[in-house]
Amino acid sequence: MTTDETIAVEQALEIPTYSKMPMALVRGDGSYVYDTEGNAYLDFYGGHCVCILGHCPPRVVKAIQKQAGELLFYSNVAHSPIRAAAAQSVVELAPDGLGNVFFANSGSEANETALKLARKYTGRSGAVAISGGFHGRTLGALATTHKSMYREPYLDVLPETHFAPYGDIDAIADLLASGEIAAVILEAIQSIAGMRMASTSFMQELRELCTEHGTMLILDEVQTGVGRTGTFSISEHYGITPDLITMAKSLGAGVPVSAVLVHDDIAETVESGDQGSTFGGGMLAMAAVKATLDQIVDERLMSRAEEIHSRLADALGSSVAELRGKGCLIGLKLDQPVAPVIEALRDHGVLVGGSVDPHVMRLMPPLTTTDAEIEVFASALTAALDTVADLEV
Ligand code: PLP
Repeated sequence: MTTDETIAVEQALEIPTYSKMPMALVRGDGSYVYDTEGNAYLDFYGGHCVCILGHCPPRVVKAIQKQAGELLFYSNVAHSPIRAAAAQSVVELAPDGLGNVFFANSGSEANETALKLARKYTGRSGAVAISGGFHGRTLGALATTHKSMYREPYLDVLPETHFAPYGDIDAIADLLASGEIAAVILEAIQSIAGMRMASTSFMQELRELCTEHGTMLILDEVQTGVGRTGTFSISEHYGITPDLITMAKSLGAGVPVSAVLVHDDIAETVESGDQGSTFGGGMLAMAAVKATLDQIVDERLMSRAEEIHSRLADALGSSVAELRGKGCLIGLKLDQPVAPVIEALRDHGVLVGGSVDPHVMRLMPPLTTTDAEIEVFASALTAALDTVADLEV
């Protein structure tokens, strides 16, 4: 199918989801993807923050191919050595005390599971989330997603959630004082909101508050997890241990899989039948998780995250107003609206993402990004800014 045919068929048959980039992708290799016309794009959008090892990482591809030939699928109703190995890899990297894992298929499913486990453990029902936060679109996760356009049509079926203003620890303290809150859920870096990163003092105070009130702290690491910010969990950066951590996107380097890392105390209260998922923990996903984490550990790629961040800062110099985020979860704030710049970047062969903040574009490059690719990005940004400036003359 050509690009035009592909777009026409998708528009006719799929319900609308995201606003799509105007090309059809057919191949990927390392940091690059290729469209039906043979155009190459440097993918600093990382396939939607997923492709942490670049596109089609050979070690992961090989592991999936091997697993597919041996046992393509059997659900969690049977034991599986590859699931056991994946669980070991996750738990070895997880913060101390989070010695249990539940495998699911998406970020939303992981967050819903974490919220359910917190409710069961505490015997309470309320949740607190943060304005600007995004935790998914299935009903349980949607309840904690802030954007009113997403939530309001479903308010009658969403579990009760209180939203605290961003960074306002006193507002959270007031809400927890009721003694009725099962969990606080938040992203340490609010990606979609424009890569807003919580301060260390905020995160440490929040940890103390939750402990004081017997409320579970759920860290949504759907974007920050798996080493993207330089440590397996961003909680290590803050020196805190959450009660539950959710990870998705990067966990299978492109294969759909998510995980809830569960504190041992909470895990003790979970009974068979409380949670389950036919496809969660499926063998292909488990082979992908194991291979992804093995490569990240063996090649010490987590330490590359901060190097990429600082090299990018050096390469961009004063062409951006502010560089946000951490490691390979990066926000570039410009003095001008980013939408036309993102479009011009695409014309110059580079993919990045937008955000809710009209002045912030998001970069989620793989941990395998080379210094040469950072230079390619910096040159493309200069060219894109020139293109936009020319258009405005
Ligand atoms: N949490 C965060 C922080 C996310 O960015 C997303 C998706 O972008 C989700 C949860 C939902 O994940 P999924 O789309 O896999 O359900």
